[in-house]
Amino acid sequence: PGTLYVVATPIGNLGDMSVRGGELLRDVDRILAEDTRHTARLLDHLGLSTPMTSLHEHNEQKQIGRVLDWLAQGQSLALVSDAGTPLISDPGFELVRAARERGFAVTTAPGACAVTAALSISGLPTDRFVFEGFLPPRQAHRQRELERLKDQERTLVFYESPRRIVAALTDMASVFGADRSGVVVRELTKTYETVYAGTLGELAELAKAGDITEKGEFVVLVGGADKAAAVEAAMVDAERLLTRLLQSLP
Ligand code: SAM
Repeated sequence: PGTLYVVATPIGNLGDMSVRGGELLRDVDRILAEDTRHTARLLDHLGLSTPMTSLHEHNEQKQIGRVLDWLAQGQSLALVSDAGTPLISDPGFELVRAARERGFAVTTAPGACAVTAALSISGLPTDRFVFEGFLPPRQAHRQRELERLKDQERTLVFYESPRRIVAALTDMASVFGADRSGVVVRELTKTYETVYAGTLGELAELAKAGDITEKGEFVVLVGGADKAAAVEAAMVDAERLLTRLLQSLP
């Protein structure tokens, strides 16, 4: 039987394509691409003309049967997404699960990924982190999601669309508190790569003022909730309660 290779592609700078990943894209029987036109540009850059089949969010279920047949026939396949590591806020999960369940070999050619690239230059703690992908686009849903994350002590990592960067930072500042530290990373590995670091309050102001360009691709990172501060706040509350209770004693 064939093998399914999950191959990372660059998140901007084409020089980040790994040598092995490029060789796999050359040698496999077929590439499963999120957007074949997009991947065609990468193949062109690499001088390759491997056949492609589209596999995206809307046809993944439908394509799985065909792909499993190809694997059963002994074809080797490479799964790629438009940028970075497939399955990370990108299609492929259903396919990988189905291929594994059927006992086919699934293996990785790792490479660029915006989450890890952003974390590695953010200056925020990286020993533990929570990747939240995209927040809901609607404000009420977004705020509810942020409320749920308010006491999370690990560094939080979000993907965000340029259209919602102002709204997201504004909601983060109001839910997590304006003093919480944050980092906005824009256009990683590209010409206009920029890192903005500060408090969430400062970042929201910068975004509102247009000093964070609303163009390009963004990762937003937020420092975890401060456990010591949370405990202290709880103690103060407990003390107040105790004082009040004592006052009400006869
Ligand atoms: N699979 C990709 C990965 O490994 O990072 C992520 C795909 S997701 C659909 C696209 C989002 O990733 C963008 O909206 C942005 O939040 C983030 N992203 C991708 N490339 C980026 C870059 N060069 N700089 C900053 N963020 C990037």
